[in-house]
Amino acid sequence: MTGRVPDPAGRCVDATAARLVAAAFAAIRDVYVPERHQIAAAVLTGDDRVHLGVHLDAMVGRAAACAESGALSAARLATSAPPVAIAAVRYPKPTEPALARIVPPCGLCRELLIDHGGPDLQVVVDADGQGRLVAASGLLVHKYVGTKWTRTTP
Ligand SMILES: [Zn+2]
Repeated sequence: MTGRVPDPAGRCVDATAARLVAAAFAAIRDVYVPERHQIAAAVLTGDDRVHLGVHLDAMVGRAAACAESGALSAARLATSAPPVAIAAVRYPKPTEPALARIVPPCGLCRELLIDHGGPDLQVVVDADGQGRLVAASGLLVHKYVGTKWTRTTP
């Protein structure tokens, strides 16, 4: 299957977006299993390191874990430097057109990303076919702010 699907990093307009998309694409290309692992994420931390996570699907849907949370977890284990940017890539099923998609974070991950990366964390989104960095705060304009933590940024 390797080589069938082009790397979507070529559709990114900036070097950081391309770097993260390429890393996420390579990760999901290597571990893709239909219905089990369809998305990988790559997080860039402030020390210029990239950390990977993969989506874990589950027999019970709400037990599934998003690639973004796995990447954030891997980053935290590897460094104390904060996450500064993230990209996620969905690998196509064998029955679909050979197009890996840059996918935006789901609503839960938008909350999680801002909780751990702050509102300025950059997220790669597909805007009219091009991978672009946007601030996480722009994806979640009225983020939940509870009273559990004394600080709202990491
Ligand atoms: Zn998610």
